[in-house]
Amino acid sequence: MESKSPESYARDPNKPWSMVDFEIGRPLGKGKFGRVYLAREVKSKFIVALKVIFKEQIEKYKIQHQLRREMEIQTSLRHPNILRLYGWFDDDERIVLILEYAYGGELYGVLRKNGYLTEQAAATYISSLSQALAYCHGKCVIHRDIKPENLLLDHEGRLKIADFGWSVQSSNKRKTMCGTLDYLAPEMVENKDHDYAVDNWTLGILCYEFLYGNPPFEAENQKDTFKRIVKIDLSFPPTPNVSEEAKNLISQLLVKDPSKRLSIQKILEHPWIVKNADPKGICPQSQDK
Ligand code: AMP
Repeated sequence: MESKSPESYARDPNKPWSMVDFEIGRPLGKGKFGRVYLAREVKSKFIVALKVIFKEQIEKYKIQHQLRREMEIQTSLRHPNILRLYGWFDDDERIVLILEYAYGGELYGVLRKNGYLTEQAAATYISSLSQALAYCHGKCVIHRDIKPENLLLDHEGRLKIADFGWSVQSSNKRKTMCGTLDYLAPEMVENKDHDYAVDNWTLGILCYEFLYGNPPFEAENQKDTFKRIVKIDLSFPPTPNVSEEAKNLISQLLVKDPSKRLSIQKILEHPWIVKNADPKGICPQSQDK
């Protein structure tokens, strides 16, 4: 029993987790619905992140269904670039998610600190994301809310997709307006049916943002961002100096017709990815926080 990790406990359906199983450490951050703490499982000494969400908040924002869906999807996924949800427990007031600890924090922090990323770092993250999304799509999961704030980094600078709050498990076309403005695909802006190709669009947006520091269709207000997305009003500023191969990949992802966007497999084979991405998905520069 002593050497059991939360992961192995989590597979034991009879294990009722509670706060007494953990030593709580420093706060790691605060989200919209709760706080996240560094913690150590008492018996195994296994380090985790505990996300504490107050039931009052869940009821106030009516996110019961969203949270349950997030928990069910995230526990079922096993991929090196997807943050593990080992298990959860609750008491009268709180729900606590037992998450894999991402030492490097948010990728957003690295992007804001450095302004923009090197082509090696950007290609490594796009490759990691593509591999994780290929895995998700294979399990009929569309993420729909991939943005730098939902991407965490581990101790080696390996990217981890977190936060499955907006994801759906479906093999049918969906028609629900959701996601964050700048990352929305045109078919979502126009409230049309959408499928896995929305995640491929987002990869194009992220690739641009990694290399230039801002998403491509940023505007003064929501209406103008919508207009720019629908028109595919895409331009590449002269600075920073970005390679033609990177621009080629972005242009093949930010395509209005979802069926004409580069497939995930083709992204992984793209010359810019092959030339720049670290094959192990490790990006040490991101540790420089
Ligand atoms: P969230 O409620 O998921 O938005 O998380 C709030 C903040 O806590 C984020 O901004 C992260 O910086 C931090 N955080 C969340 N989950 C983890 C984790 N698993 N490991 C490390 N930091 C985390």
